[in-house]
Amino acid sequence: MLLWRKVCAVVLPLYALIGSAVSFYRVAYRVTITPMIVEATLQTNAEEAMGVLSPQLFLWVFLNLIIAIAFCFWRWRMDFPFSKAPLHAITAIALFAALYWGNDRLHRSANQRYPFNVVVSTADYIHLRNLMQAERTMPQYNTASVPDTLDIVLVIGESMRADHLSINGYERPTTPRLEKRNNLISLPHIYSEHTHTAASVPHILTRADSTNHASTYEETSFISIFKQEGFRTAWLSNQDLGEAFAPFIGECDTMVFANSGKTVFVFSEWTDGQLLPIVAQMQEERHSKNLYIIHTIGSHWYYNNHVPQEFQKFQPITSNRVVTSNTAEQVVNSYDNTALYLDFFLDSLISLFSDRNALIVYQSDHGESLGEDNHWLHAGGAEETKYPAAMIWYSDRYAQENAEKVDALKSNAFRHYRTDYIFHSILHAANLEAAEKGADVFEK
Ligand SMILES: [Zn+2]
Repeated sequence: MLLWRKVCAVVLPLYALIGSAVSFYRVAYRVTITPMIVEATLQTNAEEAMGVLSPQLFLWVFLNLIIAIAFCFWRWRMDFPFSKAPLHAITAIALFAALYWGNDRLHRSANQRYPFNVVVSTADYIHLRNLMQAERTMPQYNTASVPDTLDIVLVIGESMRADHLSINGYERPTTPRLEKRNNLISLPHIYSEHTHTAASVPHILTRADSTNHASTYEETSFISIFKQEGFRTAWLSNQDLGEAFAPFIGECDTMVFANSGKTVFVFSEWTDGQLLPIVAQMQEERHSKNLYIIHTIGSHWYYNNHVPQEFQKFQPITSNRVVTSNTAEQVVNSYDNTALYLDFFLDSLISLFSDRNALIVYQSDHGESLGEDNHWLHAGGAEETKYPAAMIWYSDRYAQENAEKVDALKSNAFRHYRTDYIFHSILHAANLEAAEKGADVFEK
């Protein structure tokens, strides 16, 4: 930048302008540049934009610009005999490139930081936009008669295993609220063949099953079918706009990211409770038919960060982000606190739908290792990560109108299903049916 004064005069003020704005939001709002922030910036309207502009921001950017411009003047007047500028430039770029691409950790870390995060996130966003808009075929389906009013909610959980919920017999009281709920059926024997989010979520949303993985990305998910049948479809997420989910998010009418500026490098409070006001607000709009896909952060490591203080009941909790630097007891305590918070989250969500013709399906994407054979977290394919928690709640009105389905659900509660059951069950819940039948908890 500094080798040529003309380059400096153009690039340095621009660098200062964008950098000061990015740093302001990093400090004031604790958000960083991610593809979702790029999306939000591009899609934002004047009113929303005014909400995040402030005199402090302008002052900070102005100060930075003044310094950058003063520096450019100084550089302009300075007469360096830089006949070797090209050589210096090539050496600098080569050194940087060697470090950047030669060291994986540095590479990943640099991509999260200014100015690289601006370039990387914009490129990611363009790639994800293309994925969202990619053409796929919709699976064939039949419809009996879709109700005039119906809300279907699929809550995709994160890393919650069935055997750490007291509703399934776990000795610690991790689900006190849900146990008191009528109309709530836990499905304790669900098997997930995938043990990481990116593979598991598409499997849950599409017709893909253990014999046919291909349809994950060749066909649309059930979201498109609901949309075709007049449902307002919304993706409300507390995770990122990942490559694996982008095609399905693209099927929805609306997408909202509750924590769009959080990454593994930048996060403070990042809890699923932050999704509740978004759902409440959308319900106030009183659409007759809604399909919500709620992608939670759930029990994702670092557990404590996703649980508000008042739910940190089981103590002592973890104190180190390196999982093995904690005792097993600490890790399990922190994990169980995420279950207790899930209990609160689902219970609060149910309250928003009690007076509606509504069904809420909770399905965790996979389980979690909690020290079995010294395994921790998930994605390694360990057996204990294959038994995710699952629950279905229906409103009184739904039960009245769907007595047969509710009966079937009750009698199927202890059956063994793979996560494939979601696709067929959720369609059937709305009186829809895939042309090719599959596992369905609402069918006796
Ligand atoms: Zn996951």
